[in-house]
Amino acid sequence: MEEIKVFCPATIANVSCGFDVLGLALDSIGDEMIVRKTDEKGIKITKILGQDLPLETEKNVSGVAGLAFLEHGDYQGGFEIEIDKRIKPGSGIGSSAASSAGAVCAMNELLGRPFSNLELTQFAMQGEKLASSVAHADNVAPAIYGGFTLVRSYEPLDIVSIPTPDELFATVIHPQIEIKTSDSRKILKTKLTLETGIRQWGNLGGLVAGLFQSDYDLIGRSLEDHVVEPIRSILIPGFDAIKQNAMEAGALGCGISGSGPSIFALSKGETTAQKVAESMRKTYGSIGIDFDIHVSKVNTQGVKPL
Ligand code: ADP
Repeated sequence: MEEIKVFCPATIANVSCGFDVLGLALDSIGDEMIVRKTDEKGIKITKILGQDLPLETEKNVSGVAGLAFLEHGDYQGGFEIEIDKRIKPGSGIGSSAASSAGAVCAMNELLGRPFSNLELTQFAMQGEKLASSVAHADNVAPAIYGGFTLVRSYEPLDIVSIPTPDELFATVIHPQIEIKTSDSRKILKTKLTLETGIRQWGNLGGLVAGLFQSDYDLIGRSLEDHVVEPIRSILIPGFDAIKQNAMEAGALGCGISGSGPSIFALSKGETTAQKVAESMRKTYGSIGIDFDIHVSKVNTQGVKPL
């Protein structure tokens, strides 16, 4: 195979109680990417549609992740990349992670899968380092593995794949406001009380158990965040109203996607997820904020060929 076209999923990081460790992949929101083998060494980004992003290899996360890929293994050629960018950068649904993960997964397919998902995650993390100066894995891991993933540890990197209940749907609303990731990090507290920690890891354990057992009530009870949401939500206009109305419309839980400004809700079944979308539309409609909204099944495959 000389060329491959892939879907690169958007991802929701944190998922309420799993700040910096949990993430999930989406199915109907994502970029498309074409990757081609070249005789020439190195990575060349030949085309980017949809967004104004750098074509220079070292300034684009797909180029940086691709270079990390090429440093390993014995492939002597290079790759050309075309990106159809549908996820807006800075939306909080893993725009940069989709490009980093998409590049390394496509390259791996073209070479007959020499690398494991864990190794691909390590290469893609170099792209994340370019985007946000921290090589975090909470978006690239679900984009590569699919479904829900837990970053149990960074030293050494340990990614745990968590099964996805069949009827789990996400609703994601992206208000058209800008929040810099650096700002949304800066305002966080760096110390926790023991009491807050206990509530948070109780919920994280509950969420993971709920996903393993397809126990939707337990998933719903566990989708609480006592650490980040109370502080970050202040940056997102209408957050409390969106959440309250989403819960009244039947969502299992609702929180901030990544570092925001996108807000996600999880629901059992597509009908409920659409009702939640309707409630979110009405809420932002009445406040007068422009937005994009999506309903998606959880994507259990991660980056996939098109
Ligand atoms: P998100 O939270 O939606 O992933 P980030 O803020 O993490 O968005 O990443 C966006 C940053 O990464 C921007 O500064 C953008 O210019 C940079 N970037 C470089 N290459 C890409 C790419 N291929 N896709 C998206 N963002 C990229």
